[in-house]
Amino acid sequence: SKVDARGSFRFFEPEMDARLQARRLFEVDLREAVANEDFEVHYQPIYCLNAERICGFEALLRWNHPVRGRVSPVEFIPVAEELGLIVPLGEWVLRRACEEATRWPDGLKVAVNVSAVQFTSASLVTAVRDALQATNLAGHRLELEITESVLVANPGATTAILHNLKMLGARVSMDDFGTGYSSLSYLRSFPFDKIKIDQSFVRDLCAEDGTEFIVRAVIGLGASLRMTTTAEGVETEAQLAKLRAEGCDEVQGYLFSRPVPAAELPDLIAHWNGAKRA
Ligand code: C2E
Ligand code: CA
Ligand code: CA
Ligand code: CA
Repeated sequence: SKVDARGSFRFFEPEMDARLQARRLFEVDLREAVANEDFEVHYQPIYCLNAERICGFEALLRWNHPVRGRVSPVEFIPVAEELGLIVPLGEWVLRRACEEATRWPDGLKVAVNVSAVQFTSASLVTAVRDALQATNLAGHRLELEITESVLVANPGATTAILHNLKMLGARVSMDDFGTGYSSLSYLRSFPFDKIKIDQSFVRDLCAEDGTEFIVRAVIGLGASLRMTTTAEGVETEAQLAKLRAEGCDEVQGYLFSRPVPAAELPDLIAHWNGAKRA
């Protein structure tokens, strides 16, 4: 009846308002945080199985809001992309991470995530060049992690951007490998240096559901294509043993360390690589 329809409409409307308003407030907070550079970068070690030492760190953004508390990048990165904030935010992380890496011993590398929106923005290559110049970090110590979604959007432009990044000496990694579309043809067409095997495969590595054969195939593929293979999300000794047996080059996960603030890196490096400091 009329009454029912109006009743449910009235009930629905304020809820929509509340959701919209919450979203607006989130956007306001995020804009303010970007303007104030109110973020931190944490670093997670990447462990080389051949050398048996840490060979680099992945930079991961952290937002700790005074009222909201810790907000996951899974939550705020997509909003930053929508609002066009990912470009300044991404450039900030890049600069921060390069600066931090100059303090590490033994030429340890730094891996920085590049979002699809940032990747296709006109300024990425310039931003990378500027960050390397300003910090004096050697280009080969910088790895840029890119997901397949980047490649789907505009394959032509992607090839040019990847080549320009490589001209600066930077390495490029395919992140979250196996979770997108057409991974295999992308490996053939684009000059990646590294394949990061998504943590969903590592999680099921010991599940006896065939996952280990997929992982074996990806590691073999990486070796044939002369790409480094890195397994993400390694949490158990059993997973590590399997990856080692399959000849995976590098591993990353809570088994070694969670992402930590920069101040904790000297201890972490001393623990895994010996007491030698820069
Ligand atoms: P990602 O690039 O795949 O990063 C790996 C994520 O897995 C990180 O989550 C890391 O903390 C988490 N992780 C590491 N080891 C383990 C493990 O052993 N077990 C489990 N369960 N998780 C593990 P985080 O830091 O929450 O980041 C989530 C995603 O947000 C990243 O996924 C990346 O896509 C995005 N992100 C983070 N920082 C940045 C950034 O600076 N720029 C861009 N564009 N994206 C970022
Ligand atoms: Ca990554
Ligand atoms: Ca990943
Ligand atoms: Ca991921």
